[in-house]
Amino acid sequence: TARPRIFSGVKPTGHLTLGNYLGALRRWVEEDQYRADALFCVVDLHALTVEHDPARVRRLTRQAATLFLAAGLDPAHCTLFVQSHVDEHARLSYLMECTAADGEMRRMIQYKEKVARESARGRSVRLSLLTYPALMAADILAYGTNEVPVGDDQTQHVELTRDLARRFNQRYGPVFTVPRATPPPVAARVMDLQDPLSKMGKSHAEGRGIVYLLDETDVVRKKIMRAVTDSGSDVRYDREERPGVSNLLDVLAACTGGKPEVLAEEYTSYGALKGAVAEAVVEVLRPLRARHAELSADPGYVDGVLRAGAERARALARPRVDAAYAAVGL
Ligand code: ADP
Repeated sequence: TARPRIFSGVKPTGHLTLGNYLGALRRWVEEDQYRADALFCVVDLHALTVEHDPARVRRLTRQAATLFLAAGLDPAHCTLFVQSHVDEHARLSYLMECTAADGEMRRMIQYKEKVARESARGRSVRLSLLTYPALMAADILAYGTNEVPVGDDQTQHVELTRDLARRFNQRYGPVFTVPRATPPPVAARVMDLQDPLSKMGKSHAEGRGIVYLLDETDVVRKKIMRAVTDSGSDVRYDREERPGVSNLLDVLAACTGGKPEVLAEEYTSYGALKGAVAEAVVEVLRPLRARHAELSADPGYVDGVLRAGAERARALARPRVDAAYAAVGL
Protein backbone atom coordinates (compact mmCIF):
# COMPACT_ATOMS: atom_id res chain seq x y z
CA THR A 1 0.00 0.00 0.00
CA ALA A 2 1.12 3.55 -0.70
CA ARG A 3 2.40 5.64 2.17
CA PRO A 4 -0.12 8.17 3.46
CA ARG A 5 0.33 11.75 2.37
CA ILE A 6 0.70 14.21 5.23
CA PHE A 7 0.47 17.98 5.16
CA SER A 8 1.08 20.33 8.06
CA GLY A 9 2.28 23.86 8.59
CA VAL A 10 3.22 26.68 10.90
CA LYS A 11 2.28 30.34 10.53
CA PRO A 12 5.16 32.83 10.68
CA THR A 13 3.31 35.17 13.01
CA GLY A 14 5.74 34.93 15.88
CA HIS A 15 8.66 32.97 17.22
CA LEU A 16 7.95 29.26 17.48
CA THR A 17 6.99 28.10 20.94
CA LEU A 18 7.31 25.00 23.04
CA GLY A 19 3.65 24.38 22.13
CA ASN A 20 4.52 24.27 18.44
CA TYR A 21 7.35 21.87 19.18
CA LEU A 22 5.58 19.45 21.53
CA GLY A 23 2.24 19.70 19.74
CA ALA A 24 3.49 19.48 16.18
CA LEU A 25 7.12 19.66 15.15
CA ARG A 26 8.45 16.87 17.29
CA ARG A 27 6.09 14.30 15.88
CA TRP A 28 6.80 15.44 12.33
CA VAL A 29 10.45 14.79 13.01
CA GLU A 30 10.25 11.55 14.94
CA GLU A 31 7.45 9.78 13.10
CA ASP A 32 5.75 11.47 10.21
CA GLN A 33 8.69 12.13 7.93
CA TYR A 34 9.69 8.46 7.99
CA ARG A 35 6.38 6.67 7.83
CA ALA A 36 4.63 8.95 5.34
CA ASP A 37 5.08 11.12 2.29
CA ALA A 38 5.06 14.32 4.29
CA LEU A 39 4.96 17.97 3.29
CA PHE A 40 5.78 20.62 5.88
CA CYS A 41 5.10 24.20 5.05
CA VAL A 42 5.68 27.65 6.48
CA VAL A 43 2.24 29.05 5.73
CA ASP A 44 3.18 32.67 5.19
CA LEU A 45 -0.04 33.67 3.42
CA HIS A 46 -1.84 32.93 6.68
CA ALA A 47 0.38 35.44 8.45
CA LEU A 48 -1.28 38.27 6.52
CA THR A 49 -4.68 37.73 8.10
CA VAL A 50 -3.77 40.08 10.93
CA GLU A 51 -1.80 43.32 10.99
CA HIS A 52 1.72 42.43 9.92
CA ASP A 53 5.09 43.96 9.27
CA PRO A 54 6.55 42.78 5.92
CA ALA A 55 10.16 42.57 7.09
CA ARG A 56 9.13 40.66 10.20
CA VAL A 57 7.07 38.13 8.26
CA ARG A 58 10.01 37.53 5.93
CA ARG A 59 12.38 37.07 8.87
CA LEU A 60 10.02 34.78 10.78
CA THR A 61 9.38 32.68 7.67
CA ARG A 62 13.07 31.98 7.31
CA GLN A 63 13.44 31.39 11.03
CA ALA A 64 10.59 28.87 11.05
CA ALA A 65 12.07 27.00 8.08
CA THR A 66 15.46 26.98 9.79
CA LEU A 67 13.86 25.64 12.97
CA PHE A 68 12.13 22.88 10.99
CA LEU A 69 15.57 21.74 9.88
CA ALA A 70 17.12 22.34 13.30
CA ALA A 71 14.45 20.18 14.94
CA GLY A 72 15.43 17.34 12.62
CA LEU A 73 13.23 17.47 9.55
CA ASP A 74 15.36 15.91 6.84
CA PRO A 75 14.88 17.10 3.25
CA ALA A 76 15.90 13.62 2.12
CA HIS A 77 12.76 12.26 3.81
CA CYS A 78 10.17 15.03 3.55
CA THR A 79 9.28 18.12 1.56
CA LEU A 80 9.90 21.50 3.18
CA PHE A 81 8.65 24.65 1.55
CA VAL A 82 7.06 28.07 1.88
CA GLN A 83 3.38 28.39 1.00
CA SER A 84 3.64 31.56 -1.09
CA HIS A 85 6.28 29.93 -3.30
CA VAL A 86 3.58 27.63 -4.66
CA ASP A 87 0.75 29.49 -6.45
CA GLU A 88 -1.60 26.53 -6.24
CA HIS A 89 -2.55 27.38 -2.65
CA ALA A 90 -4.05 30.75 -3.56
CA ARG A 91 -5.58 29.35 -6.76
CA LEU A 92 -7.39 26.58 -4.94
CA SER A 93 -8.34 28.79 -2.01
CA TYR A 94 -10.70 30.71 -4.30
CA LEU A 95 -12.51 27.53 -5.27
CA MET A 96 -12.82 26.66 -1.58
CA GLU A 97 -14.39 30.07 -0.92
CA CYS A 98 -16.87 29.20 -3.65
CA THR A 99 -17.59 25.90 -1.92
CA ALA A 100 -17.92 27.15 1.66
CA ALA A 101 -20.89 28.98 3.15
CA ASP A 102 -20.48 32.32 4.87
CA GLY A 103 -22.18 30.97 8.01
CA GLU A 104 -19.86 28.03 8.54
CA MET A 105 -16.82 30.31 8.35
CA ARG A 106 -18.31 32.65 10.93
CA ARG A 107 -18.86 29.74 13.31
CA MET A 108 -15.14 28.92 13.60
CA ILE A 109 -14.01 29.29 17.20
CA GLN A 110 -10.62 30.75 16.29
CA TYR A 111 -12.30 33.38 14.13
CA LYS A 112 -14.63 34.38 16.93
CA GLU A 113 -11.77 34.52 19.44
CA LYS A 114 -9.55 36.57 17.17
CA VAL A 115 -12.34 38.97 16.25
CA ALA A 116 -12.94 39.54 19.95
CA ARG A 117 -9.22 40.16 20.53
CA GLU A 118 -8.79 42.52 17.60
CA SER A 119 -11.89 44.54 18.35
CA ALA A 120 -10.88 44.83 22.01
CA ARG A 121 -7.77 46.58 20.69
CA GLY A 122 -9.88 48.79 18.48
CA ARG A 123 -8.57 47.15 15.33
CA SER A 124 -10.61 46.24 12.31
CA VAL A 125 -10.59 42.64 11.14
CA ARG A 126 -9.27 41.65 7.74
CA LEU A 127 -11.62 39.75 5.47
CA SER A 128 -8.92 37.10 5.08
CA LEU A 129 -9.28 36.26 8.77
CA LEU A 130 -12.79 35.05 8.01
CA THR A 131 -11.78 33.15 4.86
CA TYR A 132 -8.64 31.69 6.46
CA PRO A 133 -10.13 28.17 6.71
CA ALA A 134 -10.74 28.17 2.93
CA LEU A 135 -7.02 28.74 2.36
CA MET A 136 -6.21 26.11 4.97
CA ALA A 137 -8.53 23.66 3.19
CA ALA A 138 -6.73 24.45 -0.06
CA ASP A 139 -3.34 23.85 1.59
CA ILE A 140 -4.46 20.40 2.63
CA LEU A 141 -6.59 19.34 -0.34
CA ALA A 142 -4.14 20.44 -3.04
CA TYR A 143 -1.89 17.53 -2.11
CA GLY A 144 -4.41 14.73 -1.80
CA THR A 145 -3.55 14.72 1.88
CA ASN A 146 -4.68 11.76 3.99
CA GLU A 147 -3.52 12.94 7.41
CA VAL A 148 -3.15 16.33 9.02
CA PRO A 149 -1.12 16.11 12.23
CA VAL A 150 -2.22 19.18 14.19
CA GLY A 151 -2.76 20.17 17.77
CA ASP A 152 -6.35 20.07 18.95
CA ASP A 153 -6.73 23.83 18.42
CA GLN A 154 -6.94 23.03 14.70
CA THR A 155 -9.37 20.11 14.65
CA GLN A 156 -12.36 22.33 13.86
CA HIS A 157 -10.62 23.66 10.76
CA VAL A 158 -9.78 20.17 9.61
CA GLU A 159 -13.43 19.15 10.13
CA LEU A 160 -14.42 22.03 7.86
CA THR A 161 -11.84 20.93 5.31
CA ARG A 162 -13.43 17.47 5.29
CA ASP A 163 -16.87 19.00 4.74
CA LEU A 164 -15.59 21.14 1.87
CA ALA A 165 -13.85 18.19 0.21
CA ARG A 166 -17.00 16.07 0.40
CA ARG A 167 -19.22 18.90 -0.79
CA PHE A 168 -16.94 19.69 -3.72
CA ASN A 169 -16.74 16.04 -4.73
CA GLN A 170 -20.51 15.69 -4.53
CA ARG A 171 -21.14 18.75 -6.67
CA TYR A 172 -18.43 18.38 -9.27
CA GLY A 173 -17.03 14.86 -9.16
CA PRO A 174 -14.33 13.08 -7.17
CA VAL A 175 -11.36 15.46 -7.19
CA PHE A 176 -10.32 15.54 -3.53
CA THR A 177 -9.21 13.03 -0.93
CA VAL A 178 -11.05 13.52 2.37
CA PRO A 179 -8.31 14.02 4.99
CA ARG A 180 -8.41 13.40 8.70
CA ALA A 181 -6.82 15.18 11.65
CA THR A 182 -4.37 13.13 13.67
CA PRO A 183 -3.89 14.90 17.01
CA PRO A 184 -0.80 13.99 19.02
CA PRO A 185 -1.35 11.60 21.97
CA VAL A 186 0.24 13.84 24.60
CA ALA A 187 0.60 17.60 24.95
CA ALA A 188 -2.13 18.11 22.37
CA ARG A 189 -2.40 21.54 23.88
CA VAL A 190 0.37 23.27 25.80
CA MET A 191 -1.09 26.09 27.85
CA ASP A 192 0.34 29.50 28.69
CA LEU A 193 2.40 29.22 31.89
CA GLN A 194 0.92 32.45 33.24
CA ASP A 195 -2.61 31.74 32.07
CA PRO A 196 -3.20 27.99 31.95
CA LEU A 197 -6.69 28.48 30.54
CA SER A 198 -5.38 29.81 27.23
CA LYS A 199 -3.03 28.03 24.88
CA MET A 200 0.63 28.88 24.52
CA GLY A 201 0.36 30.69 21.20
CA LYS A 202 3.24 32.27 19.32
CA SER A 203 1.15 35.17 18.07
CA HIS A 204 0.01 36.14 21.53
CA ALA A 205 1.61 39.21 23.03
CA GLU A 206 5.21 38.53 24.05
CA GLY A 207 4.59 36.88 27.36
CA ARG A 208 6.32 35.56 30.44
CA GLY A 209 4.14 32.49 30.12
CA ILE A 210 5.36 31.53 26.66
CA VAL A 211 8.53 29.51 26.15
CA TYR A 212 10.08 30.21 22.74
CA LEU A 213 12.26 27.57 21.14
CA LEU A 214 15.12 30.03 20.82
CA ASP A 215 14.89 31.45 24.36
CA GLU A 216 18.18 31.41 26.24
CA THR A 217 18.47 28.57 28.75
CA ASP A 218 18.21 30.78 31.82
CA VAL A 219 15.14 32.50 30.38
CA VAL A 220 13.49 29.11 29.87
CA ARG A 221 14.24 28.15 33.47
CA LYS A 222 12.94 31.44 34.81
CA LYS A 223 9.68 31.26 32.86
CA ILE A 224 8.99 27.75 34.09
CA MET A 225 9.94 28.43 37.71
CA ARG A 226 7.51 31.38 37.67
CA ALA A 227 4.65 29.41 36.16
CA VAL A 228 1.30 30.03 37.78
CA THR A 229 0.23 27.03 39.84
CA ASP A 230 -3.06 26.38 41.54
CA SER A 231 -4.26 26.91 45.05
CA GLY A 232 -3.57 23.86 47.15
CA SER A 233 -0.14 22.32 47.24
CA ASP A 234 -0.43 18.64 46.40
CA VAL A 235 0.68 17.64 42.94
CA ARG A 236 -2.34 16.12 41.27
CA TYR A 237 -3.18 15.63 37.60
CA ASP A 238 -6.58 17.19 37.04
CA ARG A 239 -6.99 19.46 34.05
CA GLU A 240 -10.26 20.91 35.34
CA GLU A 241 -9.42 21.59 38.97
CA ARG A 242 -5.65 22.03 38.63
CA PRO A 243 -5.00 23.51 35.17
CA GLY A 244 -1.62 25.06 36.03
CA VAL A 245 -0.06 22.00 37.61
CA SER A 246 -1.62 19.69 35.02
CA ASN A 247 -0.12 21.74 32.22
CA LEU A 248 3.31 21.38 33.82
CA LEU A 249 2.76 17.64 34.15
CA ASP A 250 1.71 17.43 30.50
CA VAL A 251 4.86 19.25 29.43
CA LEU A 252 7.02 17.03 31.59
CA ALA A 253 5.30 13.93 30.23
CA ALA A 254 5.79 15.13 26.67
CA CYS A 255 9.47 15.86 27.28
CA THR A 256 10.31 12.66 29.15
CA GLY A 257 7.90 10.20 27.57
CA GLY A 258 6.08 9.50 30.83
CA LYS A 259 2.41 9.66 31.77
CA PRO A 260 1.20 12.80 33.58
CA GLU A 261 -0.88 10.85 36.14
CA VAL A 262 2.11 8.70 37.01
CA LEU A 263 4.56 11.61 37.12
CA ALA A 264 2.25 13.43 39.54
CA GLU A 265 2.99 10.79 42.16
CA GLU A 266 6.71 11.47 42.01
CA TYR A 267 6.50 15.07 43.22
CA THR A 268 5.40 16.35 46.56
CA SER A 269 5.86 20.08 45.96
CA TYR A 270 5.21 22.54 43.15
CA GLY A 271 8.81 23.76 43.39
CA ALA A 272 10.27 20.31 42.79
CA LEU A 273 7.89 19.72 39.89
CA LYS A 274 8.82 23.02 38.26
CA GLY A 275 12.52 22.28 38.65
CA ALA A 276 12.06 18.96 36.90
CA VAL A 277 10.00 20.53 34.12
CA ALA A 278 12.59 23.27 33.61
CA GLU A 279 15.42 20.75 33.26
CA ALA A 280 13.41 18.54 30.93
CA VAL A 281 12.53 21.45 28.65
CA VAL A 282 16.09 22.80 28.64
CA GLU A 283 17.37 19.36 27.61
CA VAL A 284 14.83 19.08 24.80
CA LEU A 285 15.69 22.52 23.44
CA ARG A 286 19.48 22.36 23.77
CA PRO A 287 20.30 20.44 20.56
CA LEU A 288 17.70 22.36 18.64
CA ARG A 289 19.23 25.72 19.54
CA ALA A 290 22.72 24.52 18.66
CA ARG A 291 21.65 23.23 15.26
CA HIS A 292 19.71 26.44 14.59
CA ALA A 293 22.85 28.47 15.16
CA GLU A 294 24.79 26.29 12.69
CA LEU A 295 22.11 26.53 10.02
CA SER A 296 21.72 30.28 10.43
CA ALA A 297 25.34 30.59 9.38
CA ASP A 298 24.49 28.87 6.08
CA PRO A 299 21.50 30.67 4.53
CA GLY A 300 22.33 29.30 1.08
CA TYR A 301 21.63 25.78 2.30
CA VAL A 302 18.23 26.73 3.71
CA ASP A 303 17.35 28.55 0.46
CA GLY A 304 18.27 25.49 -1.58
CA VAL A 305 16.10 23.22 0.56
CA LEU A 306 13.12 25.56 0.21
CA ARG A 307 13.59 25.93 -3.53
CA ALA A 308 13.67 22.18 -4.10
CA GLY A 309 10.71 21.73 -1.75
CA ALA A 310 8.60 24.27 -3.62
CA GLU A 311 9.38 22.58 -6.92
CA ARG A 312 8.22 19.21 -5.68
CA ALA A 313 5.14 20.69 -3.99
CA ARG A 314 4.17 22.52 -7.16
CA ALA A 315 4.49 19.36 -9.23
CA LEU A 316 2.24 17.51 -6.78
CA ALA A 317 -0.41 20.22 -6.48
CA ARG A 318 -0.69 21.43 -10.07
CA PRO A 319 -2.57 18.46 -11.59
CA ARG A 320 -5.13 18.31 -8.79
CA VAL A 321 -5.80 22.04 -8.78
CA ASP A 322 -6.08 21.98 -12.59
CA ALA A 323 -8.58 19.14 -12.25
CA ALA A 324 -10.59 21.17 -9.72
CA TYR A 325 -10.72 24.16 -12.08
CA ALA A 326 -11.84 21.91 -14.92
CA ALA A 327 -14.46 20.28 -12.70
CA VAL A 328 -16.12 23.59 -11.80
CA GLY A 329 -16.34 24.56 -15.47
CA LEU A 330 -13.29 26.78 -15.95
P1 ADP B 1 0.22 29.28 16.76
O1 ADP B 1 -1.14 29.04 17.32
O2 ADP B 1 1.30 29.20 17.78
O3 ADP B 1 0.30 30.50 15.89
P2 ADP B 1 0.10 27.66 14.38
O4 ADP B 1 -1.31 28.02 14.14
O5 ADP B 1 1.15 28.15 13.44
O6 ADP B 1 0.54 28.04 15.87
O7 ADP B 1 0.18 26.11 14.51
C1 ADP B 1 1.31 25.33 14.19
C2 ADP B 1 1.14 23.94 14.76
O8 ADP B 1 1.45 23.98 16.16
C3 ADP B 1 -0.26 23.39 14.66
O9 ADP B 1 -0.18 22.00 14.41
C4 ADP B 1 -0.85 23.64 16.02
O10 ADP B 1 -1.86 22.73 16.34
C5 ADP B 1 0.37 23.46 16.91
N1 ADP B 1 0.27 24.26 18.14
C6 ADP B 1 0.27 25.61 18.25
N2 ADP B 1 0.18 26.01 19.52
C7 ADP B 1 0.12 24.87 20.26
C8 ADP B 1 0.03 24.60 21.67
N3 ADP B 1 0.01 25.57 22.58
N4 ADP B 1 0.00 23.31 22.07
C9 ADP B 1 0.06 22.31 21.17
N5 ADP B 1 0.15 22.49 19.84
C10 ADP B 1 0.18 23.75 19.38
